[in-house]
Amino acid sequence: MTSRDEVGRLAKAFNSMSEELEQRMETISTDRNKLVAILSSMVEGVVAIDQDERVLHLNQVAAEMLDVPDGNQEGRPIWELTRVREACAILSRAIRDRQDLSQELTLSSMDGDRSLVLRACPIHDSSRDVVGAVLVLHDVTEESRFEVVRRDFVANVSHELKTPLTAIRGYVETMVDDAEMDGETRARFLDRIRSQVLRLGTLVTDLLTLSRLDSRDDHVDFHRMDLRQTVTESVHGLRGKAETKGLSMSVDIGDAPLWLVGDPEAMRQLIDNLVGNAINYTPSGGWVRLRLSADEEEARLQVSDNGVGISPKDRERVFERFFRVDKARSRELGGTGLGLAIVKNVALAHGGSVSVDSELGRGTTFTVRLPLTGPES
Ligand code: ADP
Repeated sequence: MTSRDEVGRLAKAFNSMSEELEQRMETISTDRNKLVAILSSMVEGVVAIDQDERVLHLNQVAAEMLDVPDGNQEGRPIWELTRVREACAILSRAIRDRQDLSQELTLSSMDGDRSLVLRACPIHDSSRDVVGAVLVLHDVTEESRFEVVRRDFVANVSHELKTPLTAIRGYVETMVDDAEMDGETRARFLDRIRSQVLRLGTLVTDLLTLSRLDSRDDHVDFHRMDLRQTVTESVHGLRGKAETKGLSMSVDIGDAPLWLVGDPEAMRQLIDNLVGNAINYTPSGGWVRLRLSADEEEARLQVSDNGVGISPKDRERVFERFFRVDKARSRELGGTGLGLAIVKNVALAHGGSVSVDSELGRGTTFTVRLPLTGPES
């Protein structure tokens, strides 16, 4: 239309209106796509409903957390889609009470428990009327698990430190109260105090080793080292202990150096702990065997014994901090329950791994694998 009369002007107005409308539609559609892209890439689950509790939006994570059937669920009531009643209830309450709400929730399933934090808030329109609600679901399973591990660890450390301290205090108070105590009893008490102090010392050393391994800048102590050399030095120190207990100890470590990048002190603790355990948990008359072998890429250290063995149930837990199959027996032998946790951490810090193979009453083999570097690198 090019005429200059009313019809022409009207047509022009229509044209510019339709252009404007098209532009607005495009902006709305771009904004919506952006929003959907953001919501679908979030690690949190998000559900938005209107005031009739019908779904406006539900991202993939929320669908999975709330076990919502596949497909487009827009427009369907939320309570029809999920069996997680708490999610529906908190959304309804946010609409009814017009306020932000939060709640923790544990969902049990075949794959284990899942801890969620739910946060719901009402959606307002421009005149401040509530027209729906949004729910954000945050998976805190890992955090909860770490928190439990941390709490258990602190409780264990406190308990382990308190036991020898209580004993020392008992001996000291008895000695202070009894000025007439005969020399023999006094010497016996002092000897017990000394062994409790040694125990405290071992415990603190093990805790410091673990904390050093846990801290990230640990690699500053790493340098090129010959694993065979470290094994030789460790074995030298432990032979006497095996002999005193009446155990035969065989060592097969070849004669070529095995180069890796690591911390020799930590590696020595790894070997000492494995061989020390093999000696401790094998009755006299038994044997302890240490083998070191390698292919082009990795070294394999095996420590075997024909001692008491570890049941399959306990085998899964022996690398946990403070886990001991027989607490009293381990204490008697001077154990802290941290030895194998240190072994595992040292192996992991060196890019390696540790595994255990055992049969109750027949013996145990621990295998440590460590990546090697070339001779010149
Ligand atoms: P501990 O200081 O008690 O020896 P560890 O962390 O070194 O602590 O070992 C954890 C537990 O694993 C021990 O208490 C013991 O029950 C079991 N264990 C470790 N090594 C052996 C082994 N060679 N034979 C049998 N049991 C073992």
